[in-house]
Amino acid sequence: MVFSSKQEIVDSITKDMKENFEISVDWRRHLHQHPELSFKEYKTKEFIVEKLSEFGLEVKTGVGGNGVIATLQGAQEGPTIALRADFDALPITDLKDVAYKSQNEGAMHACGHDGHTAALLSTAKILAKYRDILHGKIVFIFQHAEETPPGGAKFMVEDGALDGVDYVFGAHLDSSNPVGNLSIGDGYRMAAVDKFKITLQGLGGHGARPQDSIDSIVLGGQIVTALQQVVSRRLNPFDPAVVTVGVFHAGSAFNIIADSAVIEGTVRTMTKKVREKVQEEIYAIVNGLTEAAHAQATIDYLNGYPALYNHPKETAVLKQLFEKVFGKEHIGEMEPSMGAEDFAYYLEERPGSFFKVGSNNGDSNTKYPHHHPKFDFDERALLEIQKAFLEIVAYYLITE
Ligand code: MN
Repeated sequence: MVFSSKQEIVDSITKDMKENFEISVDWRRHLHQHPELSFKEYKTKEFIVEKLSEFGLEVKTGVGGNGVIATLQGAQEGPTIALRADFDALPITDLKDVAYKSQNEGAMHACGHDGHTAALLSTAKILAKYRDILHGKIVFIFQHAEETPPGGAKFMVEDGALDGVDYVFGAHLDSSNPVGNLSIGDGYRMAAVDKFKITLQGLGGHGARPQDSIDSIVLGGQIVTALQQVVSRRLNPFDPAVVTVGVFHAGSAFNIIADSAVIEGTVRTMTKKVREKVQEEIYAIVNGLTEAAHAQATIDYLNGYPALYNHPKETAVLKQLFEKVFGKEHIGEMEPSMGAEDFAYYLEERPGSFFKVGSNNGDSNTKYPHHHPKFDFDERALLEIQKAFLEIVAYYLITE
């Protein structure tokens, strides 16, 4: 293929991506019908490997678990960029009434990871034909287990997924935004997620004889109430954080003082400093109140995904590229969220950015929030993701 300008190359790739649209929809629907839960994505992995091999890419499987990596080495020297899609499903029963609904009871692609995967497969398929004009290398990262900490990203990174990579980018569908719109933003955009489990050991006894017992429910109640002060009284009001208690189990009968209690919750923070501070305060509250109650407490504190930090320089590059190709009025600010995403691990290691691609078309069936049992998206968003990836590839790997 001979081209006279960079724009001609981009136009040609775009045309090929459009021609592959029906096929990419078939892939997406196949994945949608056969969802697999985090860390159990065996057939999904096989499907991805089979496709990537057909495209003539160098494929590495079993990366950090069920992860798959495909490499496209351009004919000329240049930087290496990584593009990532996740491919696990959620433990939800699909309640949609569509031909491609999930065939696996209790599993569903309710976050759009089937779309991310189909879009990245299509991107890989088309770009593989343009090896000759690429200056540099593209690493396609197909990641398992995004939904369940410790997640797949951490293990893939540990297993060398980013070896030789200079920049890393990822896209996520967004049912709150119409197809054709994208959102992006720099700095901390998604939270670090931690989990705690507090087990209180009091002394059970007769409900009529509190003087002979140590009441785990009263202590637990004090702890739950005092935990509300971590954010409201211990942190700078300009530092976002959430402490939520989601589980409180104790007691067995109305006239028995509860011997033990279990409290579980989640902590969401944006910066490392605040993350550590919240953990310290939780320990101080639990240990202080437990001591005062003459009880015992054990705390299991699990650090999950780190906060997602979009690097300012690369995010500015993407914003400018997207404004040009999608139109300035279609590029919005990615709202910071206390949700979490393990793409954060890649961004801890390499510069890059994570952005969102609108996927609703105004119909109610594409407007359900992510993780809803009727979640769906307008499949034209598959092309929008590819368009965005192509712009990134063109900026870093295609010369004028
Ligand atoms: Mn997701």
